[in-house]
Parts: sequence; C-alpha cells; structure tokens
Amino acid sequence: MAKVRIENVVKRFDRQAAVNNFSLQIDDGEFIVLVGPSGCGKTTLLRMVAGLETVTEGEMFIDGVRVTNTPPKKRDIAMVFQNYALYPHMTVYNNLAFSLKLRKFSKEEIRKKVTEAAAMLGLADLLDRHPNILSGGQKQRVALGRAIVRNPRLFLFDEPLSNLDAKLRVSMRAEILDIHRRLNSTSIYVTHDQMEAMTMGTRIIVMKDGTIQQNGTPREIYNHPVNKFVGGFIGSPAMNIIRSRVDARSEGTWLTGPDFQLAVPDARAPLLQDHLDKEIYLGIRPESFCHLGASDNGQASFEAVVTLVEPLGSEQLIHFTLAACEMVAKLDPHIPLQYGDRVKLGVKMSDVHFFDLQSEQNLQSAHRAA
Ligand code: ATP
Repeated sequence: MAKVRIENVVKRFDRQAAVNNFSLQIDDGEFIVLVGPSGCGKTTLLRMVAGLETVTEGEMFIDGVRVTNTPPKKRDIAMVFQNYALYPHMTVYNNLAFSLKLRKFSKEEIRKKVTEAAAMLGLADLLDRHPNILSGGQKQRVALGRAIVRNPRLFLFDEPLSNLDAKLRVSMRAEILDIHRRLNSTSIYVTHDQMEAMTMGTRIIVMKDGTIQQNGTPREIYNHPVNKFVGGFIGSPAMNIIRSRVDARSEGTWLTGPDFQLAVPDARAPLLQDHLDKEIYLGIRPESFCHLGASDNGQASFEAVVTLVEPLGSEQLIHFTLAACEMVAKLDPHIPLQYGDRVKLGVKMSDVHFFDLQSEQNLQSAHRAA
C-alpha cells in the first residue's frame, strides 16, 4: 500500500506539453482510474509515476518520499501493460518467478509466492505452458500474476484489457477488482474506455490535453459533470448536447431552439438568470427522455421523427434529429416504435445540464461555487 502525491507535474516532448501542471493525491488502497481520449497524456503520466519517463517540471512523492528522479527499480512499483510483455521462451511458472529470482529469493519462497498467485488467478494448471499457447485472457492473468508476486506497494495498469474481447474484458475487470480488494493495494489504472472507468474506479480522473478536467467518484462525475467535455465523454450512449436560447417569458423561463420549446422548472431557473436572451448548451442524457402519448401535454416536450431504433432487450435506443443534431433517447423496450414514426418525447428538466456557451462550464457547478 502506498500514498502517492503528484505536484504540478509537467512533461514536455519537443516543447509540446503532454502533461500540464498535473496535481493529484492518492490515498492508501485507492483504485484510481485515469480516463480520457487518445493522446490526452494518461500513459505519459503513468510512466512518470513508474519512473520510465523523466519529469520536466514538478515533483512526485510516494509515502512522503520524493521519487521524482528515483530509478524505476527503486520505486517498488509493478506495472501491467496492454501487450502483456511476457517472456515467450519461459513457462508460465518461470514468467511468474523471474523477478523473484532476480531479487535472489530462495527457491522455496519463490515456489510459495508463485503457487499463491497462480491459485488466485486460476493459473495452477497452466504453470508448465509457454505463453504462445495461452488465450488472451490467460496471458493477461500471467501478466497480473507477475505483478502480484512482487508484492509491490503500488500497481500501475496501462490499458491492460484492451486486447481482450468484450466478454472477457468484463470478467477480467471483476478479477482485477477482486485482487485489488484482497491485496488492499493502491492502484492507478489508465483507460480510454469510460465504461471501464465508471465500473472500476473508486475515484476517476477525467483528463483532456494533459490536464485534469474533473476528479470525483463515478456518481459525481456522471451526475455533476463540471463541463461540457466531461458531460459528453462520460456516459454511453453519450449525453445529447444542443444549443438552446434562454427566453424569459411572463410564465417563466424557457429553453428554445429551431424545433423545441422546453419550460424550465422554477427551482432551476435561477441557474439561467445570467444567461437570459443568450444561448447556452443544453445537455440531455438519453435516459432523461420519456415517451409521451399524443394527448399528454408536458410543458417540456417536443415531437420528432424516429431515424433509427436499436432494440437492446432491456431498453431501446431511439435516434432522432432535434435542432439539426443527432439525438438518442433510451426508452422502455415495450413501446412499439419504428423507423419513420413521429414520437412525442418529454424531457426530465430536473436532470438536464446547462453549460456556458463560451467557457463550457456547467452552470450548476458555477452556481454551487458562487
Ligand atoms: P492513448 O490512449 O492513445 O495511449 P494517452 O492519453 O495515453 O493516449 P500519451 O501516450 O500519454 O496519451 O501521449 C500524450 C501526448 O504525448 C501525445 O500527443 C503523444 O503523441 C505525445 N507523446 C507521447 N510519447 C511521446 C514521445 N516519446 N515523444 C514525443 N511525443 C510523445
């Protein structure tokens, strides 16, 4: 277990900042997920924590000790990579034992540690095999086992499940979390897959352009995205985001666009006070829509034509166009809808998000901070 402190870290490649003024504190036993689009600096940050990449500016501490320039070997960290990085000429047993042999553990100790890790990962029957005849999931388990036997104080994972098929990814996620709980280790996990981040992280760090956009629990990030980027990045299908005008009318505040008019509940109208007669971005999660009958007269409703139906069993995704934007609604699968149908949809206005057009900040977060 370890505490990690990253202070104002910058990494530049040829004057271009891959990580920019990044600060983060990680507590003993946390499972932190760094998530963001390709090229946002996740791997670079992880490699700096591991000591595989130099730090241009700033400091790193593990358990209060400055490690900014400490070589990887002396950091007591184990890293699991996307490509497994197994030794092809060695059996599973020897792959697991290799780092222990280097550190001059006795044969008996090595056997004990390897046997324990193999049992934990379901590898006991595969110890004599070579990596070339293992499945992707088995290879990734060996890679995990190699990290576990070292009993490091910090685990770093760099997209470890990307090479596995969807079903295996889900079961390996659960296995990694199970191991994390059993070992009570501190872990930093990098992924570009927001679903993986949501299901695995006790805390998620959303990154963009080398900086932290938001640091919070999965629930906080999903329910209270601080800006339009986080709102759009976290969630699947993605949040629908359209430009909308804020109209002050005698009967209250409305959000309007080319083919919609939505009444804002009184409780939320104060958020829009500084934006009257201006445009904002309106963010609507797919599940914030509901299907209305022709006679339902919701004040926050509009009509649209269905352009695609995706029946997913437990729900259906309905695609339509609103204000010239492609939108997706998640609806009850029992509603009989098909391509070309005209539907009336209501919007749960208590759940929608308002983002400033220029700063793209969530007006709710700005309101809270004020
Ligand atoms: P991905 O999900 O695609 O792996 P990432 O978020 O992990 O992306 P990084 O690999 O950290 O992103 O890269 C961040 C930026 O730094 C990118 O623009 C990348 O091109 C650049 N970069 C990374 N390594 C180097 C390097 N050795 N030399 C020059 N530029 C680099």
